Amino acid sequence: MLMLIPGPVQTRPEVRAAMADDIAPWDDEFRAEYAAIRERVREIAGGVAGKHATLPLQGCGHFIVEASLRTFIPLGGKVLVPVNGQYGERIVKLATEAGRIAVPMMLGDKAPVSPEAIKAALEADPEISHVALVVSETGSGLINDPNILGPVIHAAGRRMICDAVSAFGAWPFRMDEHPECDAVVFTSNKCLEGLPGLGFAISPIDRLEACQGQAGSWALDLSDIYFHALKNGWGSYRFTPPAQVLRAFGVALDLYDAEGGQPARLARYARNAAVLRDGLVALGFTPYLADEHQGPIIVNVRLPADPNFEFFGFIKALKSRGVLISNYTTTLDGPSLRIAAIGALEEQDIRFALGKIGETLEAMGIGRRAAA
Ligand SMILES: *Cc1c(COP(=O)(O)O)cnc(C)c1O
Repeated sequence: MLMLIPGPVQTRPEVRAAMADDIAPWDDEFRAEYAAIRERVREIAGGVAGKHATLPLQGCGHFIVEASLRTFIPLGGKVLVPVNGQYGERIVKLATEAGRIAVPMMLGDKAPVSPEAIKAALEADPEISHVALVVSETGSGLINDPNILGPVIHAAGRRMICDAVSAFGAWPFRMDEHPECDAVVFTSNKCLEGLPGLGFAISPIDRLEACQGQAGSWALDLSDIYFHALKNGWGSYRFTPPAQVLRAFGVALDLYDAEGGQPARLARYARNAAVLRDGLVALGFTPYLADEHQGPIIVNVRLPADPNFEFFGFIKALKSRGVLISNYTTTLDGPSLRIAAIGALEEQDIRFALGKIGETLEAMGIGRRAAA
């Protein structure tokens, strides 16, 4: 099965094979393996030894996003959340449930947030201490670029938290160029192409020290992960880790380096997304985003107007031809087909999928593919 979904993404067989052994997480050899992975990840994030720390957390992306909000924003503190897709809405919910005051900026989901809008919102409310950004809005496919927005947040004297879950490793971002950043968070899966099960934050050590004790949760406290490492070593976990996922992640990082790191990964995904978008347009679909806002991670197209089109029937018929795409929709302005360009996918995989999408449309008698 060829999977074109934005998480868990398709992985390489070498990565999956690395999970085959039983592992004792506190074993000396494994501790060294884990500590080395923390350093590699910090380097990918442009972090500096002794200044930035890698904080791994068991669980999925939402856990590490919530942990970053709790750790750095005090209880009752205010966070500005540009909402231009489903993941922005999720940050609002995570922050609110954690007792932080989310200030949502509702923007529709067709364009990135502008630096001017961030600047104006921060000027209007001096109580806002943080801006929480979704870097690649996996709901719609657009990019809120922290390289453009970070300096505005910095100039306003506020802090930034980046949900880079569907961007990290592909979209360029370096902690050493972003003194305003409290955390860039991501997972073992998505653009780093490991197995799902672990989240990571990269954060400045001085901020982890300053924010000690304010998370209001032991399990989701990134400062506690840092202080635990200081006391027990960088190869130690507080609680049982998915050790096999971590080992497989090490193999995924080897493949990442061999490919050429961030620039190569971005180039492959951008090519995949362009081929995908052009191919879908050639098949008659209407893209959800304007060309200039299309990011390299995920492509959404509106559902065909043809009365023969039926969402779940289409997904199932495509699956029977060996191609899996999301069986749910995440765009805010009407439903869409969501197809990922990320994961262990090459251009020929995208072309294969386009061929199968075309075959499925023909087989189902779907002539009018443009949106209504
Ligand atoms: C995938 C994703 C997450 C996390 O999703 P989980 O299902 O919790 O792993 C968070 N933010 C963004 C932008 C994502 O794409």
